[in-house]
Amino acid sequence: MNSFLKLEILVATLFVAGCTSQQSTHESLNGVLWSQTSVEYKVAAIQSFTAARSSVEIALNDTSWSAALEQTEEYQNLPPAVIVDVDETVLDNSPFQARLVNRGIGYDPVLWEAWVNESTANAIPGAKEFVVFLKEKNVKIFYVTNRVLENPTVRNIKQVLDPQVSAEDVLCKNEKPGWGSDKASRRKEIAQNYRIILLVGDNYSDFHFLGKVGPEERIKKAKIHQEYWGSKWIIVSNPSYGNWEESLYDYNYSMPYKNKLKAKYEHLKN
Ligand SMILES: [Mg+2]
Repeated sequence: MNSFLKLEILVATLFVAGCTSQQSTHESLNGVLWSQTSVEYKVAAIQSFTAARSSVEIALNDTSWSAALEQTEEYQNLPPAVIVDVDETVLDNSPFQARLVNRGIGYDPVLWEAWVNESTANAIPGAKEFVVFLKEKNVKIFYVTNRVLENPTVRNIKQVLDPQVSAEDVLCKNEKPGWGSDKASRRKEIAQNYRIILLVGDNYSDFHFLGKVGPEERIKKAKIHQEYWGSKWIIVSNPSYGNWEESLYDYNYSMPYKNKLKAKYEHLKN
């Protein structure tokens, strides 16, 4: 056997070995591990809440400051309030995401409901301290969430974030007629009695509803309000899920998994 043929066999063997030893994985593995194990995630979350505190300090000294696009009536003399989203903003659902990774499955509404009913989510790093700070400053906190199970959500928030929270402070999706996925109607209601000084969320629709548009259009539409970013609107990182991910397959939730994956690969920029 000549050396060239030997080399060819070696390369072919390595290729086959490489293919057969390849482990199956899950799209969310790195995102969930980043949230659960990295100091970078922890620091990024704390940074978000540090920025949030600075904004609150400024806003309390400036009664013309409002963070809600829905705040259109006279508001200067209303008491201040902050609106926070719940999931991946103040409550950490990464153990639920980890379950999906371990089972090799995508989002599952039955498992989600079971997780919410457990009420065992921990606080996002920096969130509890932010809530304490707001209480000290006499700033009202509203939890505006697209969860629909209010009782276990209130229970969980009470345990890890806000011992004084009541059901009136947690505004769930569909709790009242007209309270859909777009949180604008809930902000509008809060704006009648409070000056909304800050919005905190992990998904752009926690600030302004962009609709079911593609990733490029999301970025283009969001630029209209760029003066809000980082001052009146504070983002907490969420690498695991969100409208950003759904936009990659046109929000076609029932699409078979392999088609979703194909659509995602098509968005890669090489
Ligand atoms: Mg969220």
